[in-house]
Amino acid sequence: MEQRTIAPRVIGHWHAGGGWDGTGERYGDVTDPATGEVTARVRFATGGDVEVVVRAADAAAKEWAAASVTRRTNALFGFRQALVRRREEIAEAITAEHGKVLDDALGEVQRGLEVAEFACGAPHLLKGAFSDEVSGGVDVHSLRQPLGVVAVISPFNFPAMVPLWFVPVAIAAGNAVILKPSEKDPSASLLLSECWAEAGLPDGVFNVVQGDKEAVDGLLTHERVKAVSFVGSTPIARYVYETATAHGKRVQALGGAKNHMVVLPDADLDAAADAAVNAGFGSAGERCMAISVLVAVDPVGDRLVPMIAERMAGLRTGDGRKGCDMGPLVTLAHRDKVASYLDSGQAAGAELVVDGREVVPEGAAEGFWLGPSLFDKVQPGNPAYDDEIFGPVLSVVRVASYDEALELVNRNPYGNGTAIFTRDGGAARRYQREVEVGMVGVNVPIPVPMAYYSFGGWKASLFGDAHAHGTEGVHFFTRGKVVTSRWPDPGTGGIDLGFPQHD
Ligand code: NAD
Repeated sequence: MEQRTIAPRVIGHWHAGGGWDGTGERYGDVTDPATGEVTARVRFATGGDVEVVVRAADAAAKEWAAASVTRRTNALFGFRQALVRRREEIAEAITAEHGKVLDDALGEVQRGLEVAEFACGAPHLLKGAFSDEVSGGVDVHSLRQPLGVVAVISPFNFPAMVPLWFVPVAIAAGNAVILKPSEKDPSASLLLSECWAEAGLPDGVFNVVQGDKEAVDGLLTHERVKAVSFVGSTPIARYVYETATAHGKRVQALGGAKNHMVVLPDADLDAAADAAVNAGFGSAGERCMAISVLVAVDPVGDRLVPMIAERMAGLRTGDGRKGCDMGPLVTLAHRDKVASYLDSGQAAGAELVVDGREVVPEGAAEGFWLGPSLFDKVQPGNPAYDDEIFGPVLSVVRVASYDEALELVNRNPYGNGTAIFTRDGGAARRYQREVEVGMVGVNVPIPVPMAYYSFGGWKASLFGDAHAHGTEGVHFFTRGKVVTSRWPDPGTGGIDLGFPQHD
């Protein structure tokens, strides 16, 4: 029988309120990780394409900044409605390109939606302060104004949620946004674009340029781009921070992570084992808040490791559309890189308790499968401990005391998230005060803040000082101004060169 092949669809940019091809002639393959099939090709923008989009966004930003807060808020409410209407479609697109299971993809859209809802409070969030009669007939007030064009550069692991950490807040504040999504799963960005169009957002206020380093560099160095919000790995976060700040922009660059979960001897071990499995293997460990290191304070390791292994045996790895617990990894190259740690970790002395390479997946043989894996007796210096693996590999480090656990966590270069499991409120309180990490869970494995708090780590997990969304997000996307005014009665005045006295 004749073999027929269907040309993969081409994914382009979003510019001037609609789809746009640009001029680029380089493409990236987009795969379905559960089947291994190339399902689409994504266009890579050229520097010239970026120039076209930035200019249009700059013109749109000027008009949008002048739009009333009521008009902006209406667009936010419309966007929120469109997201609610299309959440399943967006989740399906995420599962088809990222591989995470459908339920998890829906959860991602939900977390992003909450930021859109937060941004619907723009009239309140953007309010300034007013001080009456600071001096004779003089009042002072403050206001926050938009920056202009801002860029958002996002990673593959949350193709909808991470853009939504920034975009609704930036738009509510009166900016125009250019999103550069991950080239591995670009479709969600275009569905978000359609939601903005359905909400009646003026053309040019939200834009998408697809691509790789060339597109990113175009944004980082363009003088009309005033701010950059980046999320991705630490080396690229550092590069983005250094390059964009050198070009005069304000930057928040969220980087990688190695999140430790400390289990004290008095903890509820069933709850701790459940939490370790959920937080270690949810989204195949491809979450910046995944737990990748479990710090077992003696003597809990001997009991906890078998409890975790037993739970892992019940996990179903397979196609995210078929009700499995854990999907494939995002690309074959990433799958192979993660699997390589199972060898290098063992070679460095760790005990491989569960080997994910032995998994029998519920899905096509060509999928990028790796089952959940568990290492015990891992030590710093082992690549399985030192590197951010970003896959379903949980490493148990055994320590003798709380102090040793704390020292281990604080010595780690990353500081995104951490958790402590204990029944001792005093120990938990001490940990949350002493640990050098941006987000802390107490008997909660993934302490992801809500939209109205700000999200961000410390140390090599964040370059810049502003965290995402919440009030820090509003602050990041606006500039403060203070106005001092006097409206003198007719007849007052006169010359006085002295510095004003406050009375
Ligand atoms: P990545 O750093 O490879 O890519 C992130 C973005 O940068 C993508 O849009 C990509 O196209 C672009 N990029 C890649 N290489 C570049 C280069 N040389 N120059 C310019 N731009 C470049 O990250 P990823 O693999 O897509 O995502 C996973 C990483 O993101 C993990 O390290 C994870 O911890 C991190 N992450 C962090 C957070 C957080 O809140 N701190 C959240 C999600 C993901």
